[in-house]
Amino acid sequence: MFERPARCCPKCGHTGYLFRARRTVEEADGKFVETKYRCRSCAHQWWDRVPAPPEPRKAEDAA
Ligand SMILES: [Zn+2]
Repeated sequence: MFERPARCCPKCGHTGYLFRARRTVEEADGKFVETKYRCRSCAHQWWDRVPAPPEPRKAEDAA
């Protein structure tokens, strides 16, 4: 699993964007969370997909 430290517009590279929507998709290889953004510079919209976090668990159980 990886996390991108910062997102930017895939079209123009601008780092300013607006959150538009979020959805969860389930596929054969797992669940994903897709987030839709809109660039503040060129108005390009795109979906950013990341693996859904695992089931919630209590941190105390690991100790
Ligand atoms: Zn852009």
